[in-house]
Amino acid sequence: MKRPAVFIDRDGTISEEVGYVNHPSRFRVFPYSAEAIKLLNDNGWLAILITNQAGVARGYFSEDVITGVHNQLRHDLETASARLDAIYYCAHHPSVGEPPYRSDCDCRKPKPGLIERAARDFEIDRAASWMIGDRYGDVELARNAGLHSAFVLSGYGLGEWEFQRGLWQHEPEIVSENLLEAVQTIVKTSTDYTG
Ligand SMILES: [Mg+2]
Ligand SMILES: [Zn+2]
Repeated sequence: MKRPAVFIDRDGTISEEVGYVNHPSRFRVFPYSAEAIKLLNDNGWLAILITNQAGVARGYFSEDVITGVHNQLRHDLETASARLDAIYYCAHHPSVGEPPYRSDCDCRKPKPGLIERAARDFEIDRAASWMIGDRYGDVELARNAGLHSAFVLSGYGLGEWEFQRGLWQHEPEIVSENLLEAVQTIVKTSTDYTG
C-alpha cells in the first residue's frame, strides 16, 4: 500500500545552518527534530531526508564526511526513538570542481531527482506527500516533484521570508516556525492519509 512521505531538508531545517558541515563536529541537530521525526514514525508517514551537499563538488569535504554526519544524525535520533526511513543527497555542482562531481545532474534541488529515487525505493503516495525546507529552492522542489510544500522560518527561512518573498514565483502551502510545528500541522490536517 502506498504511504505518504514527508521529505525533509537538512541544513537549517533538521539541523542548524552553520555553512558547510565539513566535519561531523559542526553538525547540530535542532532540539525538537527527534520529536518531529517520531511524530511521523508513529503516524505512518515515511520520513526521508533530502539534501544538497555541493561542498563535495567544491572540494571542501569528501562523501565520507557526509556519511559520518548522517551516522551521527541517525544515532541522535535513535536515542530519542526516532528514525529516518532514508537519506538521499546530491554531491554535485553544475559548474564547480572536477567530474564526476562537476555535473549537470538531475538530483540537485530544486530538480526532483532525489524524490524520484525515493519513489523508486518506496511506494509513496506523492499527492499526499510534503517537502519541508528553509529555502525557496525547497518550495520549488516541491512544485517540480508534485509535493505539497511547507516552509520553515529556522535556518535561512526567516530572512528569505522577510526579504526575498517578493521575488518568489510560488508560495508554500504552510509556513511554520520550525520543523516540529510544520510536522504537527501536516499530521493534523492530513488524518485521512494516516493510520
Ligand atoms: Mg536548508
Ligand atoms: Zn546531483
